[in-house]
Amino acid sequence: MSQIDREISVCTDCPLSRNRSRAVPGEGPENAEVMLVGEAPGFNEDKQGRPFVGAAGHFLDQLLALARLRREDVYITNTVKCRPLNNRDPLPAEMATCRKYLDRQIAVVAPKVILTLGRHSLTSFLPKETIGKARGKPRNISGVTLFPMYHPAAALHQPSLRQVIEEDMRKLPALLKSISSSGEGIGNFQREKDGEQLSMF
Ligand code: URA
Repeated sequence: MSQIDREISVCTDCPLSRNRSRAVPGEGPENAEVMLVGEAPGFNEDKQGRPFVGAAGHFLDQLLALARLRREDVYITNTVKCRPLNNRDPLPAEMATCRKYLDRQIAVVAPKVILTLGRHSLTSFLPKETIGKARGKPRNISGVTLFPMYHPAAALHQPSLRQVIEEDMRKLPALLKSISSSGEGIGNFQREKDGEQLSMF
């Protein structure tokens, strides 16, 4: 993983690299059962080089507690590793260029569950889905369980979504348990070997 982090920190493959203070590769244990994929680093993340350290990150910590998880238990990253200016949405081309890093991170961590946070993260895995319909429903793609959720920042600003995201997070322990007993989860995601890249597609 440290090799991937190093490559991200000096990456200039898309224009987002021009305005970054620091790239935000992601963080967490390499053997985490749960991987969270957010949208893109914001102002605070860009300054610190760490994911979800602002208000949404604080709320994320509270959400994780509902699933009896701490931040240190999960691997957290984003669809793009550099901040889009003014926190605009990441462009499809930027997400596509950055995808190689996410695929490699998934291959290293080989999580049981990937929580996609928000619609951009969801559609980076399932382009035809909408967050309103997909949220809270686990599904298996390429042998990994994907669990789409609303983005914590959206839920922070809309009280009705807050209840929904909390409800979805509470489902996570049972989901993890069901995956452990069925042996599903890691599936086609082999660990990264000899620099070989594996993709979900
Ligand atoms: N929002 C995200 O999607 N990712 C971060 O790292 C911070 C805020």
